[in-house]
Parts: sequence; structure tokens; C-alpha cells
Amino acid sequence: MVRARAPQTVNPLGLTFLAPTVMAIGTDQQRKEIIGPLLRSEVIWCQGFSEPGAGSDLAALSTRGVRDGDGDAADFVVNGQKVWTTNAVHGDKIFTMVRTEPGSEKHRGISMLLIDMHQPGVEARPLKQMSGASEFGEVFFTDARCPPTSAWARSVTAGAPRCCCCLSSAARPASPSTPSSAGSTTRSSPWPVRWAAIRIR
Ligand SMILES: Cc1cc2nc3c(=O)[nH]c(=O)nc-3n(C[C@H](O)[C@H](O)[C@H](O)COP(=O)(O)OP(=O)(O)OC[C@H]3O[C@@H](n4cnc5c(N)ncnc54)[C@H](O)[C@@H]3O)c2cc1C
Repeated sequence: MVRARAPQTVNPLGLTFLAPTVMAIGTDQQRKEIIGPLLRSEVIWCQGFSEPGAGSDLAALSTRGVRDGDGDAADFVVNGQKVWTTNAVHGDKIFTMVRTEPGSEKHRGISMLLIDMHQPGVEARPLKQMSGASEFGEVFFTDARCPPTSAWARSVTAGAPRCCCCLSSAARPASPSTPSSAGSTTRSSPWPVRWAAIRIR
């Protein structure tokens, strides 16, 4: 493909990391709502794992998501910073690792939140490379909101991953055509389900 100078995908992280995850543990509705727009590059996905103080060591991440209310239906309010985010300034959504359980340490209490980047609490700044290009950047979350209208959970215990699918029906959208009002953000999006959470305990 390189030799033929075929165009590269504009959605590399979504294709290689998010799509397989959705296929493995998502619901049929999530597969339908996430995979299609991703394959058509209608929604550009970023991967928000690396942080300034925690590169490949996710156990050291410090971005936090705090529930604004009680129960699984409450929004996450997210604060922190990611770095080396490919396509940061072009991203529509970001699948990002966030510490969501207060007092948790190392690999425990981390969730994967799917956050709409088109909201006031999310700012993407380019990082300039020696070549002059800016293929990646920094992403800052300042009280960014992530309402879990759709959610996945994956429980990791004693090194043996297992799906628990433990979220209540209240945390899921009623249907693709009736998204929860809690899901609205300041900018319209082509993606009906705008966020989700994968919780790793
Ligand atoms: C072109 C490019 C694109 C990238 N795109 C993305 C992207 O889209 N999204 C994304 O999230 N990341 C992305 N990355 C980041 C990349 O995948 C790595 O996670 C990151 O570069 C590693 O972080 P680091 O440079 O801080 O170094 P690291 O080697 O990870 O080190 C960071 C610090 O943590 C310490 N440390 C590392 N592992 C451990 C451990 N197990 N225990 C204790 N301490 C440890 C190290 O000693 C060091 O002090 C990209 C990187 C490149 C080069």
C-alpha cells in the first residue's frame, strides 16, 4: 500500500483500538452507532492514554472523572491533560483513560470514557514536530462532561479479565432515535451516542 502511495486512513486509532473493543464488548446498538461512522471517517477518534507524568505507564495517570451526582446515570466531570494525542486538533471524539474511583491506586479504578471533543471543557493544542508538521497534540479537560448515556464495563480481577456488563438499563439510551437529554452538548454531532464508559476495577 505504501509502495503504491495509497492514501492512509485518517482514523488510525479508532480503527486499530476502538473498533475492535466495540466489536468485542459493545452492544449491537453501539456497534451500529460507532463502527459505521468510524469506517466512513464521519467521526474522527483520538486515543487519550498518554499523560505528561504517565507515558506508557497507565497506572500513574492522574486525569480524574468525578460523578456529578449519585448512581450510574450521573455525569462524569473530567479534569486533566493528555499528550501525544494523534489527530488531537482534528478529533471529534476521544476514547480516554480516566481515574474514576476516588482513592483508587495504580491500575484499579480506571475507566475508559468516550468524550465528545466539541464541548467547552475540551481544548486541543497542536505540538509542533521538527518537520514542521503537527500530527499530534495535547488535550486539556477542564470540567469536561461525560454523561454515561451508554456504557460498557469490563472488570479485571486478579489478572483475569472478564466482561461484567454491569450497567443498569437506566444508563443506556432508550433507542437510537431517542437519545437522552442528558447527552446534549454545546455542538451538534452526527453521532447519536456521544459517550460511553468502560470501567476497569
Ligand atoms: C507518533 C506518536 C503518536 C502517538 N499517538 C498517541 C496517541 O494518539 N494517544 C496516546 O495516548 N499516546 C500516543 N503516543 C504516545 C506513545 O504511545 C507512548 O505512550 C508515549 O510516547 C510514551 O510516553 P513517554 O514518552 O512519556 O515515555 P515512557 O517510556 O512511557 O516513560 C514515561 C515515564 O514513566 C516511567 N514509566 C514507564 N513505564 C513505567 C512502569 N511500568 N512503571 C513505572 N514507571 C514507568 C518512565 O520511566 C518515565 O519516567 C504517541 C507517540 C508517538 C511517538
